[in-house]
Amino acid sequence: MESNNYNDPSVIGGCSVPVRVNRKSKPDLTIVDLPGIRIGSSDVVIIAGPCAVENNEQLSETVKAVKTAGAAMLRGGAFKPRSSPYNFQGLGEEGVRMMRDISRESGLPFVTEVMDTRQVGFVAEYADMLQVGSRNMQNYPLLKEVGMTRKPVLLKRGMMATIEEFLLAAEYIMNQGNEQIVLCERGIRTFEPTTRNTLDLSAVPMLKHLSHLPVIVDPSHGTGHRWMVPTMSKAAVAAGCDGLIIEVHYKPEEALCDGHQSLSPEEFARLMVDLRKIAQAVGREIY
Ligand code: PEP
Ligand code: MN
Repeated sequence: MESNNYNDPSVIGGCSVPVRVNRKSKPDLTIVDLPGIRIGSSDVVIIAGPCAVENNEQLSETVKAVKTAGAAMLRGGAFKPRSSPYNFQGLGEEGVRMMRDISRESGLPFVTEVMDTRQVGFVAEYADMLQVGSRNMQNYPLLKEVGMTRKPVLLKRGMMATIEEFLLAAEYIMNQGNEQIVLCERGIRTFEPTTRNTLDLSAVPMLKHLSHLPVIVDPSHGTGHRWMVPTMSKAAVAAGCDGLIIEVHYKPEEALCDGHQSLSPEEFARLMVDLRKIAQAVGREIY
């Protein structure tokens, strides 16, 4: 008798899961190794920092605050994919060097975005993890290029990508031999205008069901509202994510980029206290 595939995790609603990212292809879940941190372990990793590196004071004050509150890793964009060409585009190479310096000083590893194949060599020399942003999730030459490095990759879901397309993008990276990939749900475009994106928290259990890769959530871009970030962060941890990437700015009202969705140091510190309780309730700990 032919078996039906109702319970086959590789075929759900017509979504077919590519072979290398498929949970069935690997008995153990993938753990992504960064200096002092393992993403995909039983601990939940909190990555925090500014949307964009702006200057030394902004970076050092923000990093001091997130480290004190207990973040395990830093974020900070230097090559920024801005919707308008007239907006702040980031500090480029200088920003990457500033991230490297503050990372050494604080002892926290960092992730920063690469937008172009020509930036990969430089950024991979400095950063602990390469971010491929939402707008570039289907930039196949870029996926191949980061796949050729041996640096961990933070792959953000395209704002109009299905789960299948998201997994296929990860497969491109894996096909080059780089298996150190973290998937990031950051919200998708829907008909709903009150939030910047619709944060698809159902993607967390679905991706973990279909794939062996760790899954983290970005509640900042996922909502676009500072006041919603704590609620959706807690919901994401309850939903089983392996980490969060949260925008924090020492003076959100003065931020050159995404201040409206960035937490202040006080808000972030309060959130960390609550996240520890939620993590404990679901049998995990905050790194
Ligand atoms: C970011 O994390 O800085 C960013 C630009 O996010 P996304 O690619 O998800 O829009
Ligand atoms: Mn941002």
